[in-house]
Amino acid sequence: MHVIYGGTFDPIHHGHLRLALEVSDTLEVDRVHLVPCHIPPHRGGTGATSVQRLQMIQLAIRGEPRLQVDDRELQRAGASYTADTLRQLRNELGAEQPLVMVVGTDAFASFDRWREWQEIPALAHVVVVRRPGSDLPEGSPASLLLEERRAATPGELRHTPGGKFFEFKPPLMDISATGIRQRIADGRSPRYLVPDSVWQRIHDEGLYGACPD
Ligand code: ATP
Repeated sequence: MHVIYGGTFDPIHHGHLRLALEVSDTLEVDRVHLVPCHIPPHRGGTGATSVQRLQMIQLAIRGEPRLQVDDRELQRAGASYTADTLRQLRNELGAEQPLVMVVGTDAFASFDRWREWQEIPALAHVVVVRRPGSDLPEGSPASLLLEERRAATPGELRHTPGGKFFEFKPPLMDISATGIRQRIADGRSPRYLVPDSVWQRIHDEGLYGACPD
């Protein structure tokens, strides 16, 4: 089973990192692949460049073999569409191996606006992480899909290459990258919200308006 967890990671924080380990425990996989997007299609510009965001992930996961980074979206020009990433992975993994993508309810709520969203169940399973304050609108395509294709247990995802939706409710940390960027812009420290190595890099490069001295 190949598991990817995509995002902007602007910057990566302990909420992301804990979730990735919870996913690894629950799905019983040795590795979770973090996939930073190059250019996010559904939001404005990022605070840090894609290379800076990639490097912060590399610093954050150093020494944790269960977390890997996959920079394939940085290798493609233009906006990073999940369907393209999944198609590429499906070609590499072959038709039979289960492929799983992890997404929070905040991002999944607008699933029907993702490019080629209707192709996604044919390519992969989706683990939908319930984030407090981000409920799926009742009757929305996202919530209907989750109901129709629901996997009752994570083990079910092993039986088919894709097409199932598993709702995951792990303990979550109330941390957002937006809050971290805001805090730094206000001249306050994000220490303990991000790994020290990430804060050090933000500080050294003056990212998000961090005071560089
Ligand atoms: P922003 O505030 O800039 O939108 P974010 O902190 O939500 O950023 P993203 O990079 O947009 O982070 O999110 C990547 C994925 O991680 C999304 O699927 C999102 O739902 C999930 N995620 C973000 N923060 C947390 C958290 N604290 N706990 C669990 N999942 C999270």
